Amino acid sequence: SNDYRVVVFGAGGVGKSSLVLRFIKGTFRESYIPTIEDTYRQVISCNKNICTLQITDTTGSHQFPAMQRLSISKGHAFILVYSVCSKQSLEELRPIWALIKELKGADIPNIPVMLVGNKCDETAELREVSQAEGQAQATTWSISFMETSAKTNHNVTELFQAAQHGEDAH
Ligand code: GDP
Ligand code: MG
Repeated sequence: SNDYRVVVFGAGGVGKSSLVLRFIKGTFRESYIPTIEDTYRQVISCNKNICTLQITDTTGSHQFPAMQRLSISKGHAFILVYSVCSKQSLEELRPIWALIKELKGADIPNIPVMLVGNKCDETAELREVSQAEGQAQATTWSISFMETSAKTNHNVTELFQAAQHGEDAH
């Protein structure tokens, strides 16, 4: 198929929708509007062909388990988002990562998975997870890591570019 599906997971309020909207539309909003589930499509070129990049913005931990399994089964790349201002939001990624490993099994080494600490623009006083702690978690899980800010547009393009790297093998 010519579809390449990237799925964005993470607790409510960490900035999943903001990252996707920043990447797709170049905009940012201060208000929090809970998402049900949205999929954005973009036509991209890959290996001299035309592909559809699909980005699914999930509801996070409140997603129905059956929907979560379906998104994972159909996904080609995964972005696991926490907020650097919430240690709890990093903890909440554990069961998602466990499920991705379970469902993707032996394919895991070929699948781009990014651990993302969003809201890195926030002040030091509000920070609960250091860059080193985020990196250490990613190393434990053998996945990539970066900190982002949907607000200041830090590392957003880089994040979605990295998520597309598996596209070559696809
Ligand atoms: P979601 O539930 O994970 O989709 O989170 P949202 O994208 O709706 O964002 C939740 C709240 O965090 C909103 O008020 C956003 O304006 C704010 N937010 C999102 N990304 C950032 C960021 O990078 N920095 C800061 N300071 N706030 C952000
Ligand atoms: Mg959302």
